[in-house]
Amino acid sequence: MARINSALYDNGPDLIDSLEVDDHPEKYDKERFKCPECLVKIQYNSGVHKLDPHFKNWPNISHKEDCEIEKLQSLQSQNDNHNIQRLTSTILPRAERLQKFSTPQEKQKIIRRYLGRRSQIFLNALISIQDFDHKAIFIRTEDRQSIPIADLIMRQDQIVQKLDLDNKPFICILRGYLTTKIDIGNNIKIPLTYGGKYQNKHKFDIFIPSSFKEKNINKINQIEKSLVYCYGLAEKNEYGYKMDLYSITHQISKIQ
Ligand SMILES: [Zn+2]
Repeated sequence: MARINSALYDNGPDLIDSLEVDDHPEKYDKERFKCPECLVKIQYNSGVHKLDPHFKNWPNISHKEDCEIEKLQSLQSQNDNHNIQRLTSTILPRAERLQKFSTPQEKQKIIRRYLGRRSQIFLNALISIQDFDHKAIFIRTEDRQSIPIADLIMRQDQIVQKLDLDNKPFICILRGYLTTKIDIGNNIKIPLTYGGKYQNKHKFDIFIPSSFKEKNINKINQIEKSLVYCYGLAEKNEYGYKMDLYSITHQISKIQ
């Protein structure tokens, strides 16, 4: 049974995230959600203790035989690993691999939607599975391609290269080694290592804007000098290459 995080609603072109439904269930008619791939009717479910919103099959309605979401998930459910199912359902089918953000409004929307609770669930599942699975587990992205999860995980040099090429911010999972924090006025930056053991050539910073400092200040020492995944929006500005960090709890997972 496919379990996915977003659905089409009515005849609208946009995908609705299950967290949006969770926020305002009264705004939606539960009869009107559809599979984004094969368009069969699916249902919203708030999950165990209402903490795990997602979409699942409508009773007695199966996805169509050629539905890519169903195919991917039945492949993964064979290996019987709960974390793998969790991982794929959490971001499937919206890995936002290609999403680019031009306006501050678009950026705000993405911060609200993707850098919260959903990312925490996703990162925890990512940590809990073996590295080799990252190549073997495929997820569906917004361009309707199936790509290995490994393709969403980038080192700082790869991110810098893409930013130089496209000149637009984009969502990704950074894998990098954090050094110690540096105060920049009221903001904080945590530079990643470069040169040395991990062979990265470019400088890259994790940046905590001043308005998010208080919320995170007590957790910073838990992530300093650590290899981490950080899920966020990579961008370039006049000070260099960076990823903003709004919530250590939601956006960062320690690899070791
Ligand atoms: Zn389907």
